[in-house]
Amino acid sequence: MTHRVDYRRYALPFRAPVRTAHGVWSVREGLLIRAVTADGRVGYGEAAPIPGFGRETVDAAEVVLQTLGGEWTPERAAGIPGEFGALRHALHAATEPSAPTGAREHLPVAALLPAGRAVLERIDALAEAGFRTFKWKVGVLDAADEWAILDDLLARLPEGARLRLDANGAWDRRGAERWLSRCAERPVEYVEQPVAADLPQAEDWLHGLAEDYPTPIALDESLVGGDDLERWLGGGWRGVYVLKPSLLANPAGAVASLAAAKAAVVFSSALETAVGARHALQLALAWPGETDPTGRPRVRALGFGVWPLFADPRMDGPALAPFVRRRDVEALNPEAVWTALS
Ligand code: MG
Repeated sequence: MTHRVDYRRYALPFRAPVRTAHGVWSVREGLLIRAVTADGRVGYGEAAPIPGFGRETVDAAEVVLQTLGGEWTPERAAGIPGEFGALRHALHAATEPSAPTGAREHLPVAALLPAGRAVLERIDALAEAGFRTFKWKVGVLDAADEWAILDDLLARLPEGARLRLDANGAWDRRGAERWLSRCAERPVEYVEQPVAADLPQAEDWLHGLAEDYPTPIALDESLVGGDDLERWLGGGWRGVYVLKPSLLANPAGAVASLAAAKAAVVFSSALETAVGARHALQLALAWPGETDPTGRPRVRALGFGVWPLFADPRMDGPALAPFVRRRDVEALNPEAVWTALS
């Protein structure tokens, strides 16, 4: 089927700059795509590559879109190079708007904590609001300073809470080993991307670290290229897979492979607008989940504790709460985001 395709490029300031081990990020750029069939059915998709995650850029994705000349057929997908995962995903989402049918009515959400010492000022209010999974960005300060803050933070977590650490690839192997020894006697759910994905030794190091330390390791930046996921699954990775559906050319296929492997999956935001977030959250609600070693179902909190995110609240996904409900996701209106960008 042929679709008429329009797009709008956006540059949206974040409400507050996002601070990670890569530096400070203040404006989200991306592309919204609107596809219309000959009989008038409309779909929306979002291409929002993350700078430093893989090689896809918004500029290059826009050039590819322009070469389509406003028209899309499924056969044209084959002509788009594999590195354009976010763009391929956006075109697919806009032209195949049927949502996956899901198993769940709601899922817990992990609260994103500010990096550095500021975490200690936020944690009590978030715990009071009902959050029980928290994620703290590390690798921002010296390790000794962060270890002291980590212990203060752990002491203030409510009973039964889980803490995730995300290093965004900040450490070398030795630095990762020191952190993982530190975490071994502490209740840390997992350590995300301890070493940078683009180091030539990254895969060896990650497999080695996963074998040597008890705290699970999660892959995030390591999962952006076209065949990364299949390679890690094929290599028997038993840690956690952080899945940012917005960055994957074929997120439904990725989810099917992960489900077949009974993998541990955390669905995560790519700091996209409500258009991409809606697709990603629909996929998360449809995920069958894991079973723990005793056979009981295990639900992992979503990495979507990012709202409110944009200076313009019309771009935001569901309001931040300890759970996201199916009806909150279905209430997101891609057309309103599209209109707000005109
Ligand atoms: Mg991460």
